[in-house]
Amino acid sequence: MTRVYNFSAGPAVLPQDVLQQAAEEMLDWHGSGMSVMEMSHRGKEFISIYEAAERDFRELLGVPANYKILFLQGGGIGENAIVPLNLVARKSQPAVVDFVNTGSWSSKSIKEAKKYCTVNVAASSEAQKFTVIPPRDSWKLSKDAAYVHICTNETIDGVEFQYTPEIGAETGNAPLVADMSSHILSRAVDVSKYGVIFGGAQKNIGPAGLTLVIARDDLIGHALSICPSAFDWKLVAENHSMYNTPPTYSIYIAGLVFQWLKKQGGVAAMEQRNIAKAALLYDYFDSTDFYSNKIAKDCRSRMNVPFFLRDESLNDIFLAGAKERHLLQLKGHKSVGGMRASIYNAMPVEGVQALVDYLKEFEKKHG
Ligand code: PMP
Repeated sequence: MTRVYNFSAGPAVLPQDVLQQAAEEMLDWHGSGMSVMEMSHRGKEFISIYEAAERDFRELLGVPANYKILFLQGGGIGENAIVPLNLVARKSQPAVVDFVNTGSWSSKSIKEAKKYCTVNVAASSEAQKFTVIPPRDSWKLSKDAAYVHICTNETIDGVEFQYTPEIGAETGNAPLVADMSSHILSRAVDVSKYGVIFGGAQKNIGPAGLTLVIARDDLIGHALSICPSAFDWKLVAENHSMYNTPPTYSIYIAGLVFQWLKKQGGVAAMEQRNIAKAALLYDYFDSTDFYSNKIAKDCRSRMNVPFFLRDESLNDIFLAGAKERHLLQLKGHKSVGGMRASIYNAMPVEGVQALVDYLKEFEKKHG
């Protein structure tokens, strides 16, 4: 068996130990005589899996007691509608929502939210081709926004917030909503500074199909009447994420990933490793003009690293050589071009080192 180094942006690499354990437990989970996929979501076996996953996630991210953790479906794109459906009714209609446009994913959130509210783009780095994050003091926030939406890690463009922006009293203390799909659990976060955090699981958490939402208690219970019941955070919270059938197998694997993270030393230890992994790549790109990363240094993502070959006519040869060395999924997103290495929690430092070794070898040959 050859396991590749998979640099996919998502669905993405999972820890091998987790896959191994899932394989061992596939036919008979803990003497139940069945796989987790076959269990009733209301049975005591699955409830124990769900409760452990919820508890471990809360512990790993330090989620305070006045926040609910919801295990939903619908992905990040679903939340682009589900968030306004749950939050805009707290204000007189039509409510205003502030957005900071830092790349493809916040742009998508803006487009969807326009169906449910008046959108104010408080700041945008589109003119800089999303290579920077607009500084907090340049944001033109509304007086009474229902919330302020940011995407804290832009998976496609490769920019990441390195701090939590304060939303002051002058804006009516609007809650901060963050799409953390592609870097949740990769770094420490002060959850108490956010009203809502959401993320699809398929990058840093587990299989696709599961979406995690962390919502402060006072922001739950305001869904518009048109909000589908399965996405009304109050109904979901009251039913411990079992209002409808949750994505049980994805929750099980996410739970194993949480246990693995705890064994690795938790989020703080992961963050140190992620800093070191990202530095291996960025330091190399900064040391040569054969490759380039175009992102402002203080906004560079630790998770998604876009890069370009100086001579783009070599792109296909580069990718073919990478594949021969079992370095997969390095082609950049079509909207950006070039290459992209996604180096989530489960990508070992050896994988990043193997990529750097290949980058050097390729440069020697073609530079
Ligand atoms: N937000 C971000 C930051 C993402 O990276 C993605 C997926 N790449 C999404 C939202 C959308 O996720 P999904 O396809 O699961 O809806």
